[in-house]
Amino acid sequence: MKSIKRNILILVLALMTYVLASCGVNAEQVSNTSQDTSNTSDKNSGLIVYFLDVGQADCTLIQLPNGEEVLIDAGNYGDGSYIKNYLENLNVDDIEYLILTHPHEDHIGSAKEIINNFTVEKIYMPDVLASSNLYESTMLAIENKDIETIFAKPGLKIINSPDLKLELLSPKSMYYSELNEYSAVARLEYDNTSFLFTGDAESVSELEMLGGGFNLDSDVLKVGHHGGRTSSSIDFLKAVTPEYSIISCGEDNSYGHPHIETLNRLSDIGSEVYRTDELGTIVAVSDGQDIFITSDEIIEIPLSTPGNSDTQSVPGTEVKEPSAISETNYVGNNNSLVFHKPDCSSVADMKESNKIFFTIRQTAIDQGYTPCGRCNP
Ligand SMILES: [Zn+2]
Ligand SMILES: [Zn+2]
Repeated sequence: MKSIKRNILILVLALMTYVLASCGVNAEQVSNTSQDTSNTSDKNSGLIVYFLDVGQADCTLIQLPNGEEVLIDAGNYGDGSYIKNYLENLNVDDIEYLILTHPHEDHIGSAKEIINNFTVEKIYMPDVLASSNLYESTMLAIENKDIETIFAKPGLKIINSPDLKLELLSPKSMYYSELNEYSAVARLEYDNTSFLFTGDAESVSELEMLGGGFNLDSDVLKVGHHGGRTSSSIDFLKAVTPEYSIISCGEDNSYGHPHIETLNRLSDIGSEVYRTDELGTIVAVSDGQDIFITSDEIIEIPLSTPGNSDTQSVPGTEVKEPSAISETNYVGNNNSLVFHKPDCSSVADMKESNKIFFTIRQTAIDQGYTPCGRCNP
């Protein structure tokens, strides 16, 4: 079990080399890049960001190149076992930094379970109270575990090393009329790549961040408030100019997230949009120079299946089948949550958009998939 994380990293690196090669960057250039920067520590470990598919909620796990973990938000109440299993599969037992952006249920929902099941070293949250039982019990869990809690404020540097920085950009004001505006927004910089995680911050906070003198420019944006129209104002998006935008929202959610106005604004600035309601968990991998987006864990990269010569890829990526993980052992249906052997007749009938691929049987089971009664995978 201990080697899972290392194996995933090897797969990531193999994949990145493969993708770079398929993008016209040759292996020599890749190795030159790492040689040029080999004077800094942990350079080759890479950064992996998982935007977990927790439905209409947020939960983002960041595995830093220095081996530390950051968790931003903890899904809805009831997502605890899913998040816990996901983290355990990645061999995470210690969360150095837990950022609870704001105390809405879809952000602190399963924080208590995370706090009780993992070693959480520091918690960052805005200085605002909420009047819910969930908030009370979360605060009690923090108190019981005696975890250092730090109030979020703009300019607070959580990590500040030469090629790795994690900084909070908000909330600036003491009072807002809307709880979402208290969201702790975090910007992560790894060498030449950057990510902005905005919680549910809306236009008031966005305006404050614009006026705060921060470098907002980021390669990846976790779009504010699940793609709601009151976030992602055009001026803010123009300052961030994300190449990739990730929207964490639930399929057919009652809010109508993401709103069409937001999608139009993201399209206007030329950002590629990836949605958890369409793709499930989305993974962004950075080697410090380039970012690769794929769906779910690396071990579940969409691969070609026997009898289907077309390699499927996440829109916008050129992910093809690296030889190291050429065996697709199981095909799941993300609608019925049943998984099959690739040659099961159900797979032939399955809609392409419903397919999810697993190489490891236990991963399918851990993610709530049950084996097909016909092909007995
Ligand atoms: Zn939310
Ligand atoms: Zn909220």
